[in-house]
Amino acid sequence: MEKSFVMVKPDGVQRELVGEIIGRFEKKGVKVIGLKLMVISEELARKHYAVHEGKSFFEELIKFITSGPVVAMVMEGEGVIGVIRKMVGATKPGDADPGTIRGDFVLDAGQNIIHASDSKENAEREIDLFFAKEEIIEYSLAVRPWIYSLP
Ligand code: UDP
Repeated sequence: MEKSFVMVKPDGVQRELVGEIIGRFEKKGVKVIGLKLMVISEELARKHYAVHEGKSFFEELIKFITSGPVVAMVMEGEGVIGVIRKMVGATKPGDADPGTIRGDFVLDAGQNIIHASDSKENAEREIDLFFAKEEIIEYSLAVRPWIYSLP
């Protein structure tokens, strides 16, 4: 099963949207297999967002993402990387459709309450950056047969 790295950013925690966000994924049938409240170090922030280094918003982004606790998660399910990105919505506030997390709660391109991996390669890299192997719990949910027709 596919895995994605998802994070409620400091603004999402401060706005008390953690339950709302996790609830949307739970209702979809996405399984949370790793979860922790943490403050990101500057070193980890720079690694996580390395692809944006040198861009005009990079230093602001590092300041923002290290400014308070975040909720870091590993989520699992069939095709979850794409499904979660759709549920998160576009980065540009005007492009995020209503019904998506950003479409419903975000008006800013930087403070956009949630991060989610955009590819398999990045999901693996981000999960490795944020989670030790033993922090990811493989378990089965009793509801599974009602979510998947697959065996
Ligand atoms: N960001 C920003 N200004 C921009 C573009 C991005 O502050 O013009 C921040 C924003 O927090 C975004 C993050 O940088 O979520 C990573 O950007 P990316 O393009 O990867 O967007 P995402 O994958 O989060 O939608």
